[in-house]
Amino acid sequence: MYQKRVKMGIFNEAQKYIVGGVNSPVRAFKSVGGEPPFIEKGEGAYIFDIEGNKYLDYIQSWGPLIFGHCDKDTQNAIIEAVKKGVSFGAPTKVEVELAKEVLELFPHLNLIRFVNSGTEATMSAIRLARGYTGKDDIIKFEGCYHGHSDSLLVSAGSGAATFGVPSSPGVPADFTKHTLLAKYNDIESVKKCFESGDVGCVIIEPIAGNMSLVPGEKEFLGELREICNHYGAVLIFDEVMSGFRASLRGSFDIYGIKADIVTFGKVIGGGMPVGAFAGKKEIMEKLSPVGPVYQAGTLSGNPVAMSAGLTVIKKLKENPEIYKELEDKAKKLMEGFSETSKENNIDFNYNVIGSMFGFFFNKKLPKNFDEVNESDTKRYAKFHNNMLKSGFYFAPSAYETGFICTPMNEKDIENTITTYSKIVKEI
Ligand SMILES: *Cc1c(COP(=O)(O)O)cnc(C)c1O
Repeated sequence: MYQKRVKMGIFNEAQKYIVGGVNSPVRAFKSVGGEPPFIEKGEGAYIFDIEGNKYLDYIQSWGPLIFGHCDKDTQNAIIEAVKKGVSFGAPTKVEVELAKEVLELFPHLNLIRFVNSGTEATMSAIRLARGYTGKDDIIKFEGCYHGHSDSLLVSAGSGAATFGVPSSPGVPADFTKHTLLAKYNDIESVKKCFESGDVGCVIIEPIAGNMSLVPGEKEFLGELREICNHYGAVLIFDEVMSGFRASLRGSFDIYGIKADIVTFGKVIGGGMPVGAFAGKKEIMEKLSPVGPVYQAGTLSGNPVAMSAGLTVIKKLKENPEIYKELEDKAKKLMEGFSETSKENNIDFNYNVIGSMFGFFFNKKLPKNFDEVNESDTKRYAKFHNNMLKSGFYFAPSAYETGFICTPMNEKDIENTITTYSKIVKEI
């Protein structure tokens, strides 16, 4: 049961010491209003704040925790690794094991490099693609987020979209002049970019999860593959979110399209800071120490994070049927919301892919960032506040994807729908 939140002033205190009180902007609840609960602990599908309130967690650390909070296997692997030492800055066996497990899933990816975050993965992948092709221009898509590195912080969705800052001060125009912007699911806009620049690389979320959830259309992604082949450009699929989430092999299971480089993050670290990029041998061998493109990391591939990732990836490979179960639950949730919305004359549309769901208070189902921006974000804020008060933790922004985890059961989903039908008059 939700208890009245006692004002403890911890958010005020946090703001005295940490910029905005948070270490990543969306956590501050700016776009939905109100104060973020401070989390004490998690348990399966639930989290508990420091005031003892319990929430059903549809964020799951923004994706990583596909087995929910405190998954015993992951916890044990982490504890065992910690006992042996947290970091050596030297090669360890567990890195090799995780590399093998990941690459085994993707016939078109031959070599991998582990880093510490999704941002690092995409930043390094772009450098590698530029180094490999010798071309500076890259294409990215409006509403796709690839972390906060300079050349990718142009019309990013998610946190950046929430704050209405298409690109950030501090990023020199000289850096972003090589970033050409195309429209998601619109191949004509891609052709224009190719004609206007010397494009060495295209980066895209094949399943966009940072403008809520907008899947790439199969035909569009196929044409994107062809146009990259035609111009000799490297195609990077950013699957930091969709990898091991949309499906075991992310977009590859869904579209069968082979990118030249794929970036990973989130689930691959099982809740620990891990990112990775994997690609074709001839491209990856341009990377140091084999090739001249520099990339490094003191804590990259550290055994604690690798052990967590290895446990999760192995468990997913052993239980591939969970994706169907997660998808069924996500669909049930979205169908329930959709029906309730309809009964109350609220425009509502949604997407579900595997364990990921995204919904829009919007007359139509958006296919690109412009259409996403036609959604009613004020209504989303009211939805968020009311659900939070009732013990349901949804993303504090209309631009985020929601996540189902394995410990979430039918009853949890039913309770969420019932609660939505109770608060719907308030929104
Ligand atoms: C989260 C995310 C990133 C950035 O990952 P961080 O670990 O937050 O740096 C990059 N790309 C996509 C698609 C993401 O969802």
